[in-house]
Amino acid sequence: MHNQIIPKVILHEHVEGSITPFMAQKLADKNHIIFPNSLCYQANEYDKNEFKNGRYRYDETNFVEFIQTYDTVSSFVKTPEDYYLITYDFLYRNAKQGLIYCELFLSPYHICTTEINGEIIWNQERFHQTLEQMDKAIIDVQKEFDVTVRYHVIGVRHLGAKIVYDTLRFIEKNPHQFITGFNIAGNEKAGHFDDFQDAHQLASQLKLKKSYHAGEIDSAESIIQALKHGANRIGHGIRAIENQKLIQELIDKKITLEIALTSNRILVNELHGNIYNHPVRKLYEQGVRITLNTDDAGIFGTDIEKEYHIAQTVFQFSRLELLDITLCGIDAAFVEESVKVRLTHYVLSLFTANDKQMLQQAITDKKYHFAIIDRFKTYQELL
Ligand SMILES: [Zn+2]
Repeated sequence: MHNQIIPKVILHEHVEGSITPFMAQKLADKNHIIFPNSLCYQANEYDKNEFKNGRYRYDETNFVEFIQTYDTVSSFVKTPEDYYLITYDFLYRNAKQGLIYCELFLSPYHICTTEINGEIIWNQERFHQTLEQMDKAIIDVQKEFDVTVRYHVIGVRHLGAKIVYDTLRFIEKNPHQFITGFNIAGNEKAGHFDDFQDAHQLASQLKLKKSYHAGEIDSAESIIQALKHGANRIGHGIRAIENQKLIQELIDKKITLEIALTSNRILVNELHGNIYNHPVRKLYEQGVRITLNTDDAGIFGTDIEKEYHIAQTVFQFSRLELLDITLCGIDAAFVEESVKVRLTHYVLSLFTANDKQMLQQAITDKKYHFAIIDRFKTYQELL
């Protein structure tokens, strides 16, 4: 009974980061690009059970090598059709592992700008073609799996406030029904959330919900700033653990953190490369809403099943707690209410007799934080 598949949600995946080594090879061949030998481990050099789609060769303690790998792999993506291939590959793989809802991050700046004589030109046609291909990939995956997908547009913060604002202006002129989120990503230490005032406002006008990367590389203070500017969710946000007052604010405002265990282990210096140092369990137990995410699935050699598995084996999240995490993800999703209701009922329909018993026991025992108990009671009413 316990082996029954757990439905999963991803609220945080950068589409170019989803490219596995196998897919990178395919793109390089297709686009006649030389594939550097040093980019990946050879077939006999890594554990194929752990890295089913190949393994990139960057040193996990070396941020520069990681970024170089990311840039090299992204440079293999040349055409709108390439976006079909990577979107299909990522979604198919993860839907097979129980993914029912996903938010994909895309950067219009990277997809469709060119610089001519110092001026940035936004290519609308290119953008539409790319989204058409991504939409097509989603429809094709949906022929086999019932997975719902929405997009975020990324404002790349280290490119400066003007480009972030121009990105939203571009979306204002080129809206798409599945773009429901605005995201500030990139180097967290570049600039301050105050610098992006125009973008925060325009995102609100365009009725885009906001999820901002904060508290991953930068301190808890960056999360406070993101919330001040209207962030509905926080990308990573794990350094909230350093500030009790902030933890309380996250609980009161029902802010969800998009946690990515494998990504955080590799990129967050404070964890010293050791997953056991991750505060995910503490955040959950203190009542903060969390979700599990892949972030850059291909580059980090992960997928959603692996992230849930780490939560289960390293942090002892029970099946009931993992179901709660999935339901928190649905609740925090940037999607129409009717879809949330449908997905919530779907997840609840998968509760086994044992799950229901565990739920009842958790409510009676009152060992959990009241915020968790409140959610459990809601589930019980809906069951
Ligand atoms: Zn991210």
